[in-house]
Amino acid sequence: MSNSAIDLRSDTITKPTPAMLEAMVNAEVGDDVYGEDPTINELEDYTAKLLGKEAAVFMPSGTMTNQVGLRVHTEPADEIILESQAHIYYYEGGGPAALSGVMCRLIPGQNGIFTAADLQKALHPANIHFPKTKLVCLENTHNRGGGTIYPLSTVREIGQICREQALKLHLDGARLWNACVATGVSEAEYAEPFDTVSVCFSKGLGAPVGSALVGSKASIARARRFRKMFGGGMRQAGFIAAGALYALKHHRQRLAEDHENAKILATGLKDIAGIKIDPATVQTNIVIFETENISAPLLAAKLQEKGVSLLAMGENKLRAVTSLMVRRSQVEQVPSLVEVALQDDTKVSIPLTSY
Ligand SMILES: *Cc1c(COP(=O)(O)O)cnc(C)c1O
Repeated sequence: MSNSAIDLRSDTITKPTPAMLEAMVNAEVGDDVYGEDPTINELEDYTAKLLGKEAAVFMPSGTMTNQVGLRVHTEPADEIILESQAHIYYYEGGGPAALSGVMCRLIPGQNGIFTAADLQKALHPANIHFPKTKLVCLENTHNRGGGTIYPLSTVREIGQICREQALKLHLDGARLWNACVATGVSEAEYAEPFDTVSVCFSKGLGAPVGSALVGSKASIARARRFRKMFGGGMRQAGFIAAGALYALKHHRQRLAEDHENAKILATGLKDIAGIKIDPATVQTNIVIFETENISAPLLAAKLQEKGVSLLAMGENKLRAVTSLMVRRSQVEQVPSLVEVALQDDTKVSIPLTSY
């Protein structure tokens, strides 16, 4: 738990606004396992339409949404292809092995982005020696890549290969909203080449809880089965769905502010001696920068003392994420606080860190 004034750890820290809370307490609810929660039904319809798909299913987390997505398209011993630092592989507790029993084939990308040519090289012929490749997963924007946007043309080329090879294509679109606001490409256009897309309401959009998987009627019917099996069948969850619906209707456009704040932060950091960053790599709300003379965990610990929370992402790499919880005036203070922290040699203890 951080009590710091400027919290740049993640866009998951967002809390509901008063208007969102009002929508939540006034929600009409029912038993969603029986399909009787009108607010969840409305959220699912709204999300499916926005993404241009037939159906959607509400879930408690992005992790469950991705893992159900994998299970929908695979059987144990199948192979899935994903980027080497994909959230599904890196941050979901080994879910692909435990919940779907699949093999992961990794493609190293450029800031999280691999191309159609990279995918082509990773494919192998059908042969009893090899696991059956069933699914390709992309991530847009790419979290560990630094909030990078998947170019629409590359997504389409990859979609073309998947159709030719009869592979399914899943998008981890936890931050798809950010990609859409930054590029002007609509959610439906970005979703079009994919069989399933997972989206999060609880990151930059600011809802307290919730994600959804969208796809064809058949794949979402199968997803409902696995959601129940994985323990994600909720009852009167319309109260939280109302927060998600409010976020979808009112908080998408404001993500542009987070992107501007990230740019301001990156530009301010660029001129600090001992910090390395190319502001051109900052495409959305994630700012990744490097330290030259101090370890990243030590700088993070020093900044914490100055009231700034961010995460070490490697021995010399830090991540700052803008969201509706940080104001521009706060972001503008961060570069000078980094400078002060770099010069400060009072001892601080570094918590155990992993990346
Ligand atoms: C946050 C995130 C998720 C889902 O995370 P939950 O905390 O389980 O909701 C999935 N994919 C990416 C890329 C993310 O950043």
